[in-house]
Amino acid sequence: MKRVLLSLLILVVATGFTFASGGQDSGGVKIGVVLPDASEERWANQDGAFFKKELDALGAGYEYEILFSEGDESKEKQNVEALIARGAKVIIITSQGSGASAVAAAHAEDVVVIAHDRMAKSSNDVADYYTTFNSWNVGKAMGKHLVDAALAEGVTPDNKADLAIFAGRVADWPNATYFFGGAFEELQPNLDLFHIVNQDAAAFEALDLYTEATFDDAAKDALQGAMQSIDTDWNPETAGIKAAGVVAQINKMSDKVFVLAPNDDTSAAIRLEFAKMATPYAKYYTTGQDASNVTLASLMGDTVTGKGTQTMTVFKDVSKLVHDSVMIAKNIVDGKPGLTGLTSGPSIDGAQTAYSPIDTLLASNPQLTYDTIFATGYKDENHPD
Ligand code: BGC
Repeated sequence: MKRVLLSLLILVVATGFTFASGGQDSGGVKIGVVLPDASEERWANQDGAFFKKELDALGAGYEYEILFSEGDESKEKQNVEALIARGAKVIIITSQGSGASAVAAAHAEDVVVIAHDRMAKSSNDVADYYTTFNSWNVGKAMGKHLVDAALAEGVTPDNKADLAIFAGRVADWPNATYFFGGAFEELQPNLDLFHIVNQDAAAFEALDLYTEATFDDAAKDALQGAMQSIDTDWNPETAGIKAAGVVAQINKMSDKVFVLAPNDDTSAAIRLEFAKMATPYAKYYTTGQDASNVTLASLMGDTVTGKGTQTMTVFKDVSKLVHDSVMIAKNIVDGKPGLTGLTSGPSIDGAQTAYSPIDTLLASNPQLTYDTIFATGYKDENHPD
């Protein structure tokens, strides 16, 4: 079971509402799914919908229930306990915080835990399986986009551009730290191109260069220390408030702004605040991830939903991640080793491998280009670096 565990951590959510249930058994649940927040497109429309599809396809004998925790750790705990009480043999969880209470509650009843996308662990216990994407690479794609865009715009150390930096929820370890660390690996050697407009610019400028290979406890402490003041809690409202604080004290040094935003939802909220400046920036370059619908509209220049101000997103093939989590859960219910039949993908090697649906996404959205939607870890001869 250790082989699927990299080095990430997750958080747990509590009781929400039943999103879906399936199977025709006696009313018991075999597979319980606990997702963070139905208000986020990522969890409701992507993971939630794919879980329903995959679990429905398993049919009788694999009864399931999907609960959302409404962004509340105590509800998450209630959800996990409720699913265990209903007979769940496996809990698939994307947690709000560390996931410690979910792991403890499940293991106390010999229930297997699959940490989905986010890690779930306590100081002395950890999820049995872990399926995830390469979060460091997600961050690198964001940082690289900003640096490339700045260079293409003719930004130089003598002609700097403004840079605003935001992070995900620090407690979403390791995801949020890895996103930020990956982005900073690209930004750190190029900081002389930018004038950091966040209030704690010195904290970023003091950061060393960290790579995924050299990441250690010292790097974790340094990165998380810098992230504290820019923690959006993955919450668009919090992101907006933090952005408003930044905007209020910005002394514009350029007519363009480069914004490291940790995901699509927070990116949109941050842009809304920047747009309220008395003299707004003439041009934005903003990052994100999840390929959410609003973002795709913005990438395509939709003037209503985004004004074309988000300039990249990271497409993570959630359908594949969900498939792997469900495969592991099915194996457990069948009494087989969890990884039976899994031969590739994030649950096996800890790194997102090549999935082709990016081409489907691009084909159905002809205005988009491979340069603006980065499929995590996905490269082939048609899409070279
Ligand atoms: C996920 C992101 C998501 C964020 C906020 C992270 O753990 O990996 O895809 O945008 O949580 O829900």
